[in-house]
Amino acid sequence: MGCALAYQLAKRNVDVVLLERETLGSQSTGRCAGGVRQQFSMEANVRLQRLSVRLFEEFEQETGHPPDFRQIGYLFVLTLPQHVEDFRHNMEMWHRVGLADARWVDADEASRMVPVLNVEDVLGCTFCPSDGVASPADVTSGYASAARRHGARLREGVEVVGVDVAGGRVQGVRTSAGEIATRLLFNCAGAWSSSIGRLAGLEIPVLPYRRHVAVTGSFPAVPRGNPMTVDFQSSLYFHPEGDGVLIGMSDRAEPPGYVTDVNWEFLEKMFATAAGRAPALASAGVKTAWAGLYETTPDHQAILGPVPELEGFWCASGFSGHGFMQAPAAALLLAQLLLDRRSEIDISPFAFTRFAKGSLVSERNVI
Ligand SMILES: Cc1cc2nc3c(=O)[nH]c(=O)nc-3n(C[C@H](O)[C@H](O)[C@H](O)COP(=O)(O)OP(=O)(O)OC[C@H]3O[C@@H](n4cnc5c(N)ncnc54)[C@H](O)[C@@H]3O)c2cc1C
Repeated sequence: MGCALAYQLAKRNVDVVLLERETLGSQSTGRCAGGVRQQFSMEANVRLQRLSVRLFEEFEQETGHPPDFRQIGYLFVLTLPQHVEDFRHNMEMWHRVGLADARWVDADEASRMVPVLNVEDVLGCTFCPSDGVASPADVTSGYASAARRHGARLREGVEVVGVDVAGGRVQGVRTSAGEIATRLLFNCAGAWSSSIGRLAGLEIPVLPYRRHVAVTGSFPAVPRGNPMTVDFQSSLYFHPEGDGVLIGMSDRAEPPGYVTDVNWEFLEKMFATAAGRAPALASAGVKTAWAGLYETTPDHQAILGPVPELEGFWCASGFSGHGFMQAPAAALLLAQLLLDRRSEIDISPFAFTRFAKGSLVSERNVI
C-alpha cells in the first residue's frame, strides 16, 4: 500500500518520504497469496476492485514492470443454501455495477474447470474470469521503482517512533533515524496501523490475525490455468503456484496476535480440509509453508482517507486480508481525494467516521 501510494503521489509532484522499518514488502504483502478478485458482497468493494483489476491490467505500461497478473478467474464453491441465497443477491449487484463477466457455474461445469474438485455436496458456484492472481513481489517492486523515478524517497530500516501533534494537526514524525517535519501523514502500517494511531493519540480499530499458506511440490493435476478455487464454507482456497499449488485457509478460532510462526497442527487441519474438497491434494507434498497477518477491522472493510479528529492524519489501512488487491485502486483514489478533493469512485463507505456513527455493514465475502 505504501509503495502504491508513494507512486501515485510522487507522480503528481507531492514530496514523498516512505518509512519502512524492515524491508519493503517483508510483512503481509510479501506473505500474501496474490489473489485479485472482484466478487465481494459490498458494492463499494466491487467498484474499488473493478478499478484495481484495470490497474493490474495496465500495470506494466504504467510502471514498466510486469506484475505477473494471470486472469485465471476465481471460482467460489458454495455448499450451504444460505450462501447460495446470499451469492444470488451478490450476482444481481455485480451485474448492476458492471461486473458483467461474473456468472453461475453448476457442479458439473465446476468439475470440468477444476478436475481435482470434489463436487458431491456442491450446490452451485460463482465464477468471474477476469479475477486472478498477481505477484506481490513484482507489484511491490514495480511501484517502488516507479515511485523512486518520480522522486519519492523510500527509506528502509527506519521505524516511526512518534508523531508530533500541535494545534490539532500533524506537525511531523519522529523516527529511529531522526525527525521529519510534515503536515501530512499516511498510516500504511498494515497490521501495525493501530500502533501508529496510538502514537498520534488516535484509536484506529485494526487487529492482527495470523493466516497460513502452504505451497506443494510439482502438482500437474492443478495446471497453470486452474482458477483460484475457494471453498466458501471452510475458507479453504488453492491456486496454481509455479508448477505446484498454493493452499490457504483461515483459522477462524484463533484470537488476534502478532505471532507468525507456523502452527503445524493447524496446517494438518488445513490439509485434511483440502483433501476433502480436492482429494488428489492428499498426496501432495508440502514444499514450504509460512504465516503472515491479516489487518482486520470490525466490519472487514478498509479505512481510507482523513481522520477528522487530527488534521493531516490519513489512513490507508485495515484491508482485512484484501490489501494486495485493493492497494492499486486505493492509492489512486486517495491521491485524487487529496489533490482534487474528489475521487473518481466514491470512497466514503471506507471513511474512518463510520466507526463513531456505529453504522457498520460488514463485508461478507471474507476468506
Ligand atoms: C497468508 C496471507 C494471504 C493473503 N492473501 C491475500 C490475497 O490473496 N489477496 C489480497 O489482496 N490480500 C491477501 N492478504 C492480505 C494482504 O497481504 C494485506 O492486506 C496487504 O499486504 C496489506 O498491505 P499493507 O501495505 O497495508 O501492509 P504490509 O505489507 O504489512 O506493510 C506494512 C508495513 O509497515 C511497516 N511498519 C509497521 N510499523 C512500522 C513503523 N512503526 N515504522 C515503519 N514501518 C512500519 C511494516 O514493517 C510493513 O512492512 C493475505 C495475507 C496473508 C497473511
